[in-house]
Amino acid sequence: MSKRILVTGGAGFLGSHLCERLLKEGNEVIALDNYFTGHKENLYHLLDYKAFEVVRHDVTMPYFAEVDEIYNLACPASPVHYQYNPIKTIKTSVMGAINMLGLGKRVKAKVFQASTSEVYGDPHVHPQTEEYWGNVNPIGPRACYDEGKRSAETLFTSYHEQNGLEIRIARIFNTYGPRMDMNDGRVVSNFIVQALKGEDITVYGKGNQTRSFCYVDDLIDGFIRLMNYPENYPLPVNLGNPGEFTILELADKIIDLTGSKSKIVYSSLPQDDPMQRKPNIDRARKLLSWEPTIDLERGLISTINYFENKIKK
Ligand code: NAD
Ligand code: UDP
Repeated sequence: MSKRILVTGGAGFLGSHLCERLLKEGNEVIALDNYFTGHKENLYHLLDYKAFEVVRHDVTMPYFAEVDEIYNLACPASPVHYQYNPIKTIKTSVMGAINMLGLGKRVKAKVFQASTSEVYGDPHVHPQTEEYWGNVNPIGPRACYDEGKRSAETLFTSYHEQNGLEIRIARIFNTYGPRMDMNDGRVVSNFIVQALKGEDITVYGKGNQTRSFCYVDDLIDGFIRLMNYPENYPLPVNLGNPGEFTILELADKIIDLTGSKSKIVYSSLPQDDPMQRKPNIDRARKLLSWEPTIDLERGLISTINYFENKIKK
């Protein structure tokens, strides 16, 4: 059955893929965005859908629409962007959550929060399970994002417990794919663009820190399964690809796949940069029968093709 669905951050990387998937499934979709890191261009290919609306709006301000479901994705995700205006970042997470939860309560919509592996900070438990409370510096450069997302989880849980609101919390691990912003500073887009342009590949620190990279289509599939889970499930669910790679391995793979002559150059590791990250996805496997199906090489090839076309334009 067709649903009316609000996607905040709809013009961003993940938001645009989510809108596309929801429209293809026959839903009515409102994409809401303030275009801080997202682009209208990410949605151009969807504008022919009669069931699609795009609204310029900032989630720190209340918004009203009669909807059945809300996916709350609005928030810059790249460290470069979320550290640009830390006060705005935490306001976006906290006030955005309050406004979307308030809307959900009023119209009785189910509300989904795009949380993050950053709630685990620089983790002492590896791989990270949902039970782990994390190791976050509350006054460090990543705090505006990490603590904002942690507070949002608290707000979601409180609205569920106090008001019976139906909520979903996805803890997303590093995700990549087409429509990442070329200049947003995240590692996969940086390395691919540098490799394609023959520029130096900028590895921060020694490159021995690890990340687990999930291809966007797999992640969006996890979003939909979690939102559609037929029972109330207010606990957080890790969504990510458990394959774990050092940043140096990622650089080598991208150099290899692009056939680039770029050299690797090293610079200092940003403060509080987590040393390791890998999701334990047992909960998602059991609950949602979900696991990623696209390995790093296949996902990188499709992302490289996207950036190749983008650079040519
Ligand atoms: P993105 O930066 O591409 O998208 C975020 C979108 O939110 C952008 O379109 C931006 O303009 C919009 N936005 C920012 N502040 C806003 C505000 N105040 N009001 C309205 N819109 C606002 O990032 P993304 O990778 O698509 O991330 C989407 C969500 O998923 C974010 O909440 C992010 O924290 C979360 N997440 C992403 C990843 C990842 O690896 N991509 C990992 C963990 C969590
Ligand atoms: N990184 C890097 N070079 C870059 C961009 C990022 O070495 O040009 C490193 C960064 O220090 C971190 C990892 O890659 O250890 C992932 O960074 P990203 O910003 O993509 O996401 P994070 O997981 O840190 O939020």
